[in-house]
Parts: sequence; C-alpha cells; structure tokens
Amino acid sequence: MNFCYPFINTPLPYPYHALEPFIDEKTMHLHHDKHLQTYIDNLNALLKENPMLQKCSLEELLISCCRRPDSLQISIGNNAGGVYNHRFFFDGMSNDDNLSIDDFLLLEINKHFCNFDQFKNQFKQAALSVFGSGYAWLVLDNGRLKITTTSNQDTPLEKHQYPLLNLDVWEHAYYLKHYNVRAAYVDDWFHVVNWHMVSLRLEKWLSFCT
Ligand code: MN
Repeated sequence: MNFCYPFINTPLPYPYHALEPFIDEKTMHLHHDKHLQTYIDNLNALLKENPMLQKCSLEELLISCCRRPDSLQISIGNNAGGVYNHRFFFDGMSNDDNLSIDDFLLLEINKHFCNFDQFKNQFKQAALSVFGSGYAWLVLDNGRLKITTTSNQDTPLEKHQYPLLNLDVWEHAYYLKHYNVRAAYVDDWFHVVNWHMVSLRLEKWLSFCT
C-alpha cells in the first residue's frame, strides 16, 4: 500500500452491502468509488504539479499546511482532507457485531461524558449542528476526549487534535436512503460504528503523546 503520491483508492475493508440496512449499498458505491475517487484524483493532479510535496504522507500534507505556498494551501487542504476524512470514516465502520466497545474505551467515555447515552446524545447534537457540509468527530485533545465538528473537508489534525471517530454529514453520505433526515442517518450509523478501531486509534495516540 502506498502512503504518499500517487495516492490510490484502497478498497473498503468490507463489502459495499455490508452495512445494510443502516447504510445502503448504493450510497457506499457512490461514496467510495465516485466521491472519494474524485478527491484522490484531484490531490494527485495537484501533487503532480508540485514534486516537492510528493514524498509527503496525507497527515504531513494536512499538518504542514502552514508551510505550503499560499496558492496551494486551500486546494491541497481540501483534497488531502477529503481523502483523509473519507478513509477515516470508512475504516470507522463495520458490520461485525463482535467489534463492540471495550472496557477501557467505555471507561474513558464515561469519564468525559458521564455515560454512554450522554456521549451518543452529544455526538448526535454535534452532527446535527454542522451547518452545510462537514463532519462530527470524537477526538483526543490535550489528553481529554472531546466532541467537535469541522466544516467541508477540514480535519482536527490542523488544530492539533487527534481523531478517534468521525461521521460524514455531507448530504451525499445519506441522501439516497435518509433523504433530508440527518438525525435518522446518525441513529443508523451508530449501529455500524467499529468501536474496536476507535480503541486502536486511542491506543495509538496515547502512546504517541506519552
Ligand atoms: Mn463524503
């Protein structure tokens, strides 16, 4: 697998229909094969013209945004963010019922949000609060779990927050099945969250930070 230019559209970690009936197969096809592919194509086209950035990983392209030439900053940020956010989103879902939340993560969630239901409720409110296109996130921020949102294809990495889980609330993520009812999409998405992946990400960032 390549981690820098030229980026390729790696397959989903599960079949397109795997998240039915919560996330529909047609949406997954369009989302992965068309929307994500477009960000990959646009990012590769930008990097083709800027060889000095071709050795950068996605994260480096996002975190080092301040060092990029002004003219490139927005377009690289949008497209590298589009690739990063979508891969993160797809990897954060699963149809495997065994990937339930583990004790350590549950303890951390209870510590910061009182209990799991409160966490879900706050996350849902955050997802509903995104005006237009963007994402809701669970992040590690200064050692604390926090819920936040980003607009368009911005990422928490730029704010030095470490992402654990994200929910794509662009309309293309849910319009075919849930129409304009974002709340129903959020409720359905909670059925397919890959909590095991969230734990792995938390472990990774905790070891990185200490
Ligand atoms: Mn999307």
